[in-house]
Amino acid sequence: MRPIEDSYRHKGLRKKLVDIIRKKGITEEKILSAINTIPRHFFLDSAFDEVAYEDKAFPIEEGQTISQPFTVAYQTQLLDVKPFEKILEVGTGSAYQACVLAQLGVQVFTIERQKKLYRYNQSFPFLKKYSTIKYFYGDGYEGLPTFAPFDKVLITAAAPDIPKKLIQQLKIGGIMVLPLGSGDVQQMMRITRLEMDSFKEELFDHFSFVPMLGGKKE
Ligand code: SAH
Repeated sequence: MRPIEDSYRHKGLRKKLVDIIRKKGITEEKILSAINTIPRHFFLDSAFDEVAYEDKAFPIEEGQTISQPFTVAYQTQLLDVKPFEKILEVGTGSAYQACVLAQLGVQVFTIERQKKLYRYNQSFPFLKKYSTIKYFYGDGYEGLPTFAPFDKVLITAAAPDIPKKLIQQLKIGGIMVLPLGSGDVQQMMRITRLEMDSFKEELFDHFSFVPMLGGKKE
């Protein structure tokens, strides 16, 4: 069971988490404020209540993870999010990252390949708060051609290569952030689509994500 009450203790722990993330190098106040607003313990089984505000990744259903808050903030900062943008997220997972984006005033299109996780989120009451998030069950490698182009694309699973179809769904001037690599550790990459066929690639720190897998899972 997941908790539904947000106590003063939780709020206090959240503030401490924000301080930790700030010390690690997140400077954008609106991102820190989003993390301070969203009750992360709502996304975890009550067994994790004591640790929900540690800066760590935790297991959720189906052997997947809720990303480390610092990692969520880091990817969000690299995306350079502006209000009203259209953002494609690959790997809904717990939907915590999607909520952080929605809290920044953007429109989120998020895809999950595991039906059970997708279904779980359909009946997770807290997510009703964010009507700007649209959930899709499908293979993130395909993106969402019907809703393309996007201002930003965020991949929250380790991509062994740059997914070509997702690059094609970026607007000119658009940005894609992804953990690139097939091993246990990946390097964060930011790709900016400068022109139709011209891209800038930048590399950042190393992280460890669950793999981006092809196809859907029932
Ligand atoms: N953004 C999530 C992190 C989830 S972990 C959060 O905030 O909690 C990565 C997720 O990506 C997993 O749920 C996994 O099932 C999903 N995933 C992996 N490959 C995928 C693909 N090709 N398409 C869509 N989702 C994928």
